Amino acid sequence: MSERRATRQRRAPPRTPPSVSSDALLADLVVELRARGGRLTKPRVAILEALASAQHHVTGEELAGIVKQVQPSVHAATVYRTLDTLEDIGIVYHVHLGHGPAQWHLTAEGHQHLVCEQCASVFEVTDEDFAPLQTRLADRFGFRMDPRHFAVYGLCAPCATLADQGRAPSVRTPRARR
Ligand SMILES: [Zn+2]
Ligand SMILES: [Zn+2]
Ligand SMILES: [Zn+2]
Repeated sequence: MSERRATRQRRAPPRTPPSVSSDALLADLVVELRARGGRLTKPRVAILEALASAQHHVTGEELAGIVKQVQPSVHAATVYRTLDTLEDIGIVYHVHLGHGPAQWHLTAEGHQHLVCEQCASVFEVTDEDFAPLQTRLADRFGFRMDPRHFAVYGLCAPCATLADQGRAPSVRTPRARR
């Protein structure tokens, strides 16, 4: 009986489950929003609720869909505007993981992203992983780096190994068509 290994199977590691329940997280967010002088409007609460219970990255469009289920009167345009306001307040932030739409995150659950160019796996890493570079750029150039805004691209460990062995699968995203 031969044991076959699924060597081609590459997935991002599972998200670490939030340490607090989404209800407790939402309560914290509401407190934080008020502390920062933000008003507690219905769309804001619905968006924070959706983000607090989301187990994955969500786009503005997906958020608008979730909010519409809870509050049908809230239009997508309001959701986009509210996201911008919440970002200005510092409660949420958006990330570009690739060419697709931005993904929204709660600042309270902030992290950085590494994306594999070969297999498109997304890895979440901590802010501390970027701290040495952040410090160096600040010291040398006075530059205040924002590593959260865009993902860092490269090769994940299995893809890097395959590339070293000259066996990198050609699964790159096709270039834009003419
Ligand atoms: Zn993320
Ligand atoms: Zn990979
Ligand atoms: Zn952006």
